[in-house]
Amino acid sequence: AVPLVVAITTSMGASNGILVRDRLSMEKARKVDTVIFDKTGTLTKGQFGIVDLDFVKEHNGKEVLALAAAIEEDSEHTIARAIRDKAQAQELSLPHISGFEAIKGRGAQAKYRDSVVYVGGPRLLEMLQLTLPESLKKFSDHANMQGQSVVHLIQDNQVIASFALADEIRAESRSAVDQLHQMGIEVVMLTGDSQQVAQSVAKELNIDEFFAEVLPKDKDKMVQRLQEQGKLVAMVGDGVNDAPALTRADVGIAIGSGTDVAVESAGLILVKNNPLDVIKIFTLSKASYRKMV
Ligand code: ADP
Ligand code: MG
Repeated sequence: AVPLVVAITTSMGASNGILVRDRLSMEKARKVDTVIFDKTGTLTKGQFGIVDLDFVKEHNGKEVLALAAAIEEDSEHTIARAIRDKAQAQELSLPHISGFEAIKGRGAQAKYRDSVVYVGGPRLLEMLQLTLPESLKKFSDHANMQGQSVVHLIQDNQVIASFALADEIRAESRSAVDQLHQMGIEVVMLTGDSQQVAQSVAKELNIDEFFAEVLPKDKDKMVQRLQEQGKLVAMVGDGVNDAPALTRADVGIAIGSGTDVAVESAGLILVKNNPLDVIKIFTLSKASYRKMV
């Protein structure tokens, strides 16, 4: 029976770039002590571009790029789009593949001539129990150290090429983390990306704790684990992957331009895709509800 407060917070939220889907979330926000951010698409723009590639001797750059783009033709992943864009920019004609399948949190697979081919990241290598040849290991480590994500092309159970992808950290992310710290809130990052990339981004943003190479099905378990430690958790995310974690969190916050599933799983939405608006949620929540309870 508090329609006035609801009306006020809803309209204040809207003019502040926050869409309130669930007013209970807005009320709980003032008690949050831990914020978990997804990395790709949330702290970063999630718009990958291929910046470099490398391949083993018997192959060449155009061939591996064309094959990778063919595998990724029907994938909706942002990394897939980056690979297709690069192949298109070079006007490559793509080889014929069949039997495309996405492998959640790891990559994609297809059939090419008589072999099974894959494109994917570290969790794919782990699944296939493959290690990188020396030259590609060097290439990957170098890219990862600069915060670039790397995916690999696999044919006949061998890694034949690696692609380095750069994504940009959103300009407001560092300031958002700093301001959360000033409010005494702990900041955690979750990502399906590699340890090295996660470490590089976490360091640049001054993140307290991070979990990398987390499979989509495990993201909500990380939220639960923190809750079991007695934390009141807000989760900020954009992807299909993030939906269960957004639902599980005490306060679920979706990036407005994120996937429909993420937006529908969150109580609050950042209309301007600005991580700084997370701070506004907390100040608004404190200002609106402090005097009530
Ligand atoms: P995130 O959005 O946090 O990176 P995902 O679960 O979507 O998490 O992906 C985790 C990792 O799996 C990616 O960083 C990438 O290495 C790999 N991956 C997933 N899908 C693809 C794909 N279609 N092509 C290449 N790599 C992929
Ligand atoms: Mg994401």
